[in-house]
Amino acid sequence: MTGSASKSVPKRPTNSPDYSREFESLQSTFRSGRTRDLDWRRTQLHALEKMMVDNEAELISALAADLGKPAQEAWTAEISYVASDAAYCRKRLGKWTRNRRVSTPLTGWPARSWVQPEPLGTVLIIGAWNYPLQLTLAGLAAAIAAGNCAVIKPSELAPATSAVIAKRLPEYLDAACVRVIEGAVEETSALLELPFDHILYTGGGNVGRIVMRAAAKNLTPVTLELGGKSPCIILPNANLETTARRLAWGKFMNAGQTCIAPDYVLTDRDTEARLLPILENVLRDMFGADPAQSDSYGRIVNGRHFDRLSAFLNDGEIVIGGESDAAERYIAPTVLSGVSADSGVMQEEIFGPVLPILNVPDIDSAIEFVCARDKPLAAYLFGNDAAQEQRFLEQVSAGNICINDTMMFMVVEELPFGGVGPSGMGAYSGESGFRTFSHMKSVMKRGWWPDIALRYAPYTAKKWNWLRRLR
Ligand code: NAD
Repeated sequence: MTGSASKSVPKRPTNSPDYSREFESLQSTFRSGRTRDLDWRRTQLHALEKMMVDNEAELISALAADLGKPAQEAWTAEISYVASDAAYCRKRLGKWTRNRRVSTPLTGWPARSWVQPEPLGTVLIIGAWNYPLQLTLAGLAAAIAAGNCAVIKPSELAPATSAVIAKRLPEYLDAACVRVIEGAVEETSALLELPFDHILYTGGGNVGRIVMRAAAKNLTPVTLELGGKSPCIILPNANLETTARRLAWGKFMNAGQTCIAPDYVLTDRDTEARLLPILENVLRDMFGADPAQSDSYGRIVNGRHFDRLSAFLNDGEIVIGGESDAAERYIAPTVLSGVSADSGVMQEEIFGPVLPILNVPDIDSAIEFVCARDKPLAAYLFGNDAAQEQRFLEQVSAGNICINDTMMFMVVEELPFGGVGPSGMGAYSGESGFRTFSHMKSVMKRGWWPDIALRYAPYTAKKWNWLRRLR
């Protein structure tokens, strides 16, 4: 058996939590071959689906406690998302795990060659707080589908959801193969000392650097799902009614605390003037005259983020919203106009319900604006012109792109989801998740006869000549 068999657990700093026993036990299960069995994988994925169905009410309450997450959002973007992801993996496992034959060139004959997927071993999944269920368990579905053991570390900033995961997961999944470890920096740092076979981290770039540094010590490969400022370009020829609805949905779901939420809008002055009253109506339709009373609108995760976001309200003219309540950690869906590129709100990912609108004269200036900044996790274009769309697609580099909508690429399982440059590396949705947690092992099986002597010494001009011809 290969994988983590040869990796030993390094000495840990004294006083920090010690997870080496749990880790070694998972490694030992992995070496036993238990997780390689396809029926085991299917049973585990089915159990994960069942966990989502059986505990729907408890999960909805936990997500409401952590983020004031509306029940429908909790169901669509977390509970049902995880269940569908697990089902998707379960149904396609047979296909994904099949060996893939590749052709062998004449110089390698007689032989057969193929790619044989194998699990990596024991993997670590570190989740973020904004979609605390999805960001740990969708990764877990991919890790199980690929036949790995896993440790999950949910975010401490969503403590109610973390507690439900820790309580319920062992009731459904094989505890010899999957462990949940709750905790914050100290616990995560201790986990990062261990020689996992892969780390999937979701969160901010600064901690992403810490994760990657720690992983380097053990030569552990990483998938980093980070964030960034995802731009939304709106062209004058866009259908503004539909644009406003789709923009508001993407921006204000989960109170703007979504990694792929449109961070800011780039449009010309005239289009902005036409868009604003429509957007105002759309927001009233969605959340009522006072969104603080709406069951469909979430809250900011904690006081630190509330204060950070409140400061942005001074960075432009508030044209919609602007109300807030610190005790409730409530910030209304807010739109800022006349925002300058130098203002505070444009210096970091907003990650909250504040939408700045910046004016640019045309699509070329908008593309130039986007390309002069870090490559974002998502980029959006609303318009109705094939040539402009083509320019946008060719020139803008982003993890994911959606034309004429926001965030909807998430429903397409076959699209790999992930960032590029500062917004992340690697991907893990659908088959890309299976591949992330697998090693694609190259295998060649030679036939015994004939054993052509061209490559063997003594080298002669005649042999070399033949080799040249065969190339
Ligand atoms: P967070 O505070 O929950 O941190 C993420 C994880 O890192 C947590 O499990 C936490 O315990 C751990 N952590 C924090 N500090 C650490 C340290 N010093 N050492 C080791 N581990 C540590 O989440 P966050 O960073 O606030 O996440 C928000 C960011 O995540 C945003 O930038 C957002 O865009 C991004 N995000 C990306 C995706 C994606 O799929 N690409 C999804 C959600 C969020």
